Amino acid sequence: MLRRVVIKLSGEAIGSEHGYDDSIIKSIVEQIILLVQTRMQVALVVGGGNYWRGRHSCSDMDRVKSDQMGMLATVMNALYLQDMFRRHGQKAKVVTPFQIGNITEMYERDSALEMLESGMVLINAAGLGHPMFSTDTIAALRAAELEADCILFAKNTDGVYDSDPHKNLAAKKYRTLSYRTAIEKDLNITDMSALHLAQQAEIPSYVFSLNAPNSITLAGSYPETGNLNGTYVCARSVEIWHD
Ligand code: UDP
Repeated sequence: MLRRVVIKLSGEAIGSEHGYDDSIIKSIVEQIILLVQTRMQVALVVGGGNYWRGRHSCSDMDRVKSDQMGMLATVMNALYLQDMFRRHGQKAKVVTPFQIGNITEMYERDSALEMLESGMVLINAAGLGHPMFSTDTIAALRAAELEADCILFAKNTDGVYDSDPHKNLAAKKYRTLSYRTAIEKDLNITDMSALHLAQQAEIPSYVFSLNAPNSITLAGSYPETGNLNGTYVCARSVEIWHD
C-alpha cells in the first residue's frame, strides 16, 4: 500500500474563471478523506490555471509579474479546498514557500512531515515561490523532500499517449514507461523539470483522469490494483501499452 503520496490537482480540475464547482470539489475531498482514513498521508499540490497561467499572459506582459499572479491564484484555490476539508471534518493546512501574513503557514519540511503523520492533509500552494516554474515541479520537489511513494497526477486525460489523443485517433496509451522515454520523446505528462526531479529521486508517477468515478481513491490504491486505466511512469519501467 502507498504510505505517503503527493497528489497534483490542476486549477482547472476544481474550477473555472466563473468560480468553483462544488460537486467536483466535494467528490475530490471525499475521496482524499477516504485515503486518509486508510492511514495514507496525503500532500496536495494545487495549480492556479483556472484563474491565471503566467505563460499564457499577453506577450508584452512582464513574465515575472505574470507568474506571481499565477502563484497567488493557487493560494485562492488552496484556501477553498482547505475550507471544503473543514466542512467535511478533515483537518488541512495550507503551506506556502513564502509568508502571506497569517493566511497560510510557511512550508518547513519537518513540520510538514509532522502534519502528515498526524493525519492532516497538507495543501501546498504558491508553487516554489519563484517564477518560470509550474506547480508540476513543486509536486515532484515536495515528493522528493517528503519521501513520498508516488506522485498522483490527476488530469483531464486518462494517461500518457504517444501523441495527442484529441488530434490523433490512432494515438496509443502507455500502461507503463520510464522517465527517460518520457523525456526523450518529450511526452506531454508534466513539465520537464518535474520529470527530471522525479527521475533523479526515483519516485514513480501515476497519471490518471480525474473525470473517471472514484479515480483518486483508485489511484491511491495503486499498485495493489493492477487493472488501472492510467499510466505508471518510473525510473526503470519498460514501455508497455494499454490494449
Ligand atoms: N507558478 C510559478 N511558479 C511556481 C508555480 C506556479 O510562477 O513554482 C505560476 C505560473 O505562472 C503558473 C501559475 O502559477 O502558470 C499556475 O500554476 P500552474 O500553471 O502549474 O497551474 P495548473 O496548470 O496546474 O492549474
